[in-house]
Amino acid sequence: MDAKTEKIWMDGEFVDWDKATIHVLTHTLHYGWGVFEGIRAYHCHDGASAVFRLKEHVDRLFGSCHIVDIPIPYTKEEITGAILETLRVNKLKEAYIRPIVFIGDGEMGIYTKEVNSRVAIAVWGWGAYLGDEGLKKGIRAKISSFTRLHVNGQMTKAKVCGNYVNSILAKREIISAGYDEAILLDTEGYVSEASGENIFIVKNGVIKTTPLTSILPGITRDSVMAIAKDKGYPLLEERFTRDELYLADEVFFSGTAAEITPVREVDNRQIGSGFPGAITLDIQETFFDTVKGRVDAYKDWLSYV
Ligand SMILES: *Cc1c(COP(=O)(O)O)cnc(C)c1O
Repeated sequence: MDAKTEKIWMDGEFVDWDKATIHVLTHTLHYGWGVFEGIRAYHCHDGASAVFRLKEHVDRLFGSCHIVDIPIPYTKEEITGAILETLRVNKLKEAYIRPIVFIGDGEMGIYTKEVNSRVAIAVWGWGAYLGDEGLKKGIRAKISSFTRLHVNGQMTKAKVCGNYVNSILAKREIISAGYDEAILLDTEGYVSEASGENIFIVKNGVIKTTPLTSILPGITRDSVMAIAKDKGYPLLEERFTRDELYLADEVFFSGTAAEITPVREVDNRQIGSGFPGAITLDIQETFFDTVKGRVDAYKDWLSYV
């Protein structure tokens, strides 16, 4: 990994990047019972560094643990402090932050009497997840043949490690077919979300996004919804079909890693003009101004490092 930094926070202590290792019989490695977060810190316009919506990310980390019944041996305040300290120790102004709560080694059955929860927090520099070009010009998406998780099969509202096999299958399938990102349908055939992003469509000035059913409740999604409402765009949380997606004037994805990425094509059908639409660009611009501390109305979303 070329973005390697100096230290990783592990179980309450800082260890060197190369020494932040675990045993091969780590329970989560075998069964995927663990949860994680993806957070970003941005270098603000005034030179400061701020984590975007840190409180919401820490709340979701604890929520994910609660959903899958993993005890977390720290308080929210301790985890929040550890995230900020990890950024400071590594002297990073802009970073992707990856906390993970996992079960260590000790017992190998799927049921463990003692739940040996461990926590690690790594930070590194990570640019535009779907590419700088994708952020500007839009990407090409394809509907995957893999269905998004059933709401009563895996817990879709938690960022559970094991859930990402579903995302990986979809992503590998569409990359090998020559596209940039996978869109998954839910078990009833409605559009759910992308492999690691939520989805928005715009038709005749009305914005629509999938309701909180089979999707991961994105914090970027929530930010986009707040920005759109404040700008006065009509917005509906309503399920929609694949053909409605094809007919949209604009489509974009939202996620911490992918930020706001326009979609210019779905299943070889051009979306709108084939270029990022006006509403997408308006929201994208405000989003980037917000994370860099340029919008007073959303200053509450920033935790300065
Ligand atoms: C993390 C994630 C998202 C985006 O959530 P954010 O809080 O905006 O980063 C969307 N879908 C899936 C499946 C995810 O894992």
